[in-house]
Amino acid sequence: MAAPNLSRMAFRSSKLLARPSHLLSAQLLMQMQSPSPLTRKMSVDAHSVASQLNSSGLLRTQGLIGGKWSDAYDGKTIKVYNPATGESIVDIACMGGRETNDAISAAYDAYRSWSKTTAAERSKFLRKWYDLLMVHKEELAQLITLEQGKPLKESIGEINYGAGFIEFAAEEAKRIYGDIIPAPLSDRRLFVLKQPVGVVGAITPWNFPLAMITRKVGPALACGCTVVIKPSELTPLTALAAAELSIQAGIPAGVVNVVMGNAPDIGDALIASPQVRKITFTGSTAVGKKLMAGSAETVKKVSLELGGNAPCIVFDDADLDVAVKGTLAAKFRNSGQTCVCANRIIVQEGIYEKFANALRDAVQNMKVGDGFSEGVAQGPLINEAAVKKVETLIHDATSKGAKVILGGKRHSLGFTFYEPTVISDVNSEMRISREEAFGPVAPLLRFKTEEDAIRIANDTNAGLGSYIFTNSIQRSWRVAEALEYGLVGVNEGVISTEVAPFGGYKQSGLGREGSKYGMDEYLEIKYVCLGNMNKE
Ligand code: ADP
Repeated sequence: MAAPNLSRMAFRSSKLLARPSHLLSAQLLMQMQSPSPLTRKMSVDAHSVASQLNSSGLLRTQGLIGGKWSDAYDGKTIKVYNPATGESIVDIACMGGRETNDAISAAYDAYRSWSKTTAAERSKFLRKWYDLLMVHKEELAQLITLEQGKPLKESIGEINYGAGFIEFAAEEAKRIYGDIIPAPLSDRRLFVLKQPVGVVGAITPWNFPLAMITRKVGPALACGCTVVIKPSELTPLTALAAAELSIQAGIPAGVVNVVMGNAPDIGDALIASPQVRKITFTGSTAVGKKLMAGSAETVKKVSLELGGNAPCIVFDDADLDVAVKGTLAAKFRNSGQTCVCANRIIVQEGIYEKFANALRDAVQNMKVGDGFSEGVAQGPLINEAAVKKVETLIHDATSKGAKVILGGKRHSLGFTFYEPTVISDVNSEMRISREEAFGPVAPLLRFKTEEDAIRIANDTNAGLGSYIFTNSIQRSWRVAEALEYGLVGVNEGVISTEVAPFGGYKQSGLGREGSKYGMDEYLEIKYVCLGNMNKE
């Protein structure tokens, strides 16, 4: 590996807002009550953390093609930035179509032998990879906070969650059963085999630098596929570290490949290749549609996890504390930068004022700062474009009558820090109700009846995450069934887990990730008919 340019790594200790942090989500609160030694260390010396990562071999800057770390063929590099400081962490290889084609060839060659391994063998490799991810949990979490900005506690949560997909895949590899179908004719026997789909192109975003990769690569490898991963150029370091650990786990060369750099060129190469039999993508709806259209040329299997516009419905009969804590977690996790973050908080008129005040108080108590600092509940946004989008949507809403009741501006910490924001009197005509804000802004809409709530919630092209807060069991069922969404949280704001299916209705995507259902995305179904069985 080329030595990362550590001389360019400059860090500054963050300033913190001295606010109590007692109103975080239950999950974050629990984590914060038992700070790890790492957390204490990180709050004082981010620079030494980067050096440690480098000396442990986990700070990789090159792509991985056929088991070899490689620079871009033309030597080009791009910078990866720490969003909390605006400073460059390291330069990485900026690859394109040529490197991608070589990665595809390597994956295609490796497929021949990997697809022939037994399920038990693949399971053992995956288990070893999982073990290594857990052994290096704290370093990987540091890497996520460094390049993505989320609070270190959330990064550690992401490692547990992300590694969980590898563990689950290791277990599920052994349960890819076929079927024997009762034959309609007495001299026939009918079998169904499940076989790997082939080489997979996996394109992932920056908001979960590890988990978005493992939930694609885990099941792909378990099924016998090989992969070419293209992580986001904003957060490639975690992906490269995970790939390094896959090598240490003994996963054969060419089974896992990583290229990054010129996204459209890499995407085009993946789409054009007839050797790539499946594209799995998490990211924007616009790019997802492009990949889907492009995949038509070679009729690839496609799974897409695209943008959401999650409604979070608070009924009059909700438990106020549960609703506030759940909304806080659903809205402000990762500074609002997840595709299942509550995008519209739809509140029944009887509880509206009380809920708005309680939510405002809770949000006010969130500590904003560098993710390495102890007690921080919200880090920076990923980049300037993300801040501009939030500003534009808030401006549009307030120009049409919405009121900012908390925040509503850039944070005094500068860079891409934004004040956690609550705005009231939002309606469905405002852009903030129709587009994903992907930032720390909670827009409150008002409704009268259950039918109104369902109509408002479903009035969108998206259909990924949704949340309901109510104490009525009957209403929970009725509304959960009526919502046109792939995921519904009832009295809970954080519901993603590797053991449950994740995916969207409508334009939020195709297919499911995680759980036993996620395995099917990487499998072909083959029907075999044995004839003339009665012949001696
Ligand atoms: P976001 O707005 O969340 O960054 P994107 O869809 O732009 O969403 O990015 C998600 C992933 O898709 C990233 O890895 C990005 O580099 C990649 N990407 C962006 N444009 C293309 C493209 N034309 N072809 C293939 N991948 C792309």
